[in-house]
Amino acid sequence: MNQLENWFFDLDNTLYRKPDLFKLIDKRINLFVMKFLNLDNDRAEALRKSYFYQYGTTLRGLIDNFSVDPVNYLDYVHDIEIRKFLKSDFSLKLSLENIKGRKFIFTNASKGHAEAVLDSLGIKECFEEIFDTGHFCYHAKPESVTFEKIAADFDGKNIMVDDYPKNIEAAKRTGFYTVLVGKGTSGYADAQIDDVHSIETAAEEIKNSF
Ligand SMILES: [Mg+2]
Repeated sequence: MNQLENWFFDLDNTLYRKPDLFKLIDKRINLFVMKFLNLDNDRAEALRKSYFYQYGTTLRGLIDNFSVDPVNYLDYVHDIEIRKFLKSDFSLKLSLENIKGRKFIFTNASKGHAEAVLDSLGIKECFEEIFDTGHFCYHAKPESVTFEKIAADFDGKNIMVDDYPKNIEAAKRTGFYTVLVGKGTSGYADAQIDDVHSIETAAEEIKNSF
């Protein structure tokens, strides 16, 4: 029985915040949708947004409606030189090292993208494993099936750290403890921090919920 604390960190907009990088990924998703469905930019943008709200990710919507190849899709949208955007973050590394328990990445992105981000931030060795959307057969947060799979595989105290309130709600409903990062609001967060660099404060706070 594993009774350690298991920390699951979202990647994008949680471990770093770079609006320019995020915009570029969105742009590449639009480009993929334009080419794949032969749409103009405005219609691709509208579809991307509606799939995001309806399915959690554009990818899930494209799989369900058009049987898109997820590997092609993920390779295309994450074909970005991450190092141009992210620098080594030693203070984050120290904070993560001070957190007791096992640490994992739980992201809707691909493993390749997650590795590039962790490499650039210099925090790859802080995490035991990356659970990407492929790990969940291309289902994605906030779908409950993803949190249920993690909960079935880890029977300790599971803690989700994420910037997206819908993910925090779904995690909480599945029995996770939750840390909301950023300016969002959620009645389902056990702790909230403006920035991931305050994760040690959240770790102290969350113990009160155990
Ligand atoms: Mg995020």
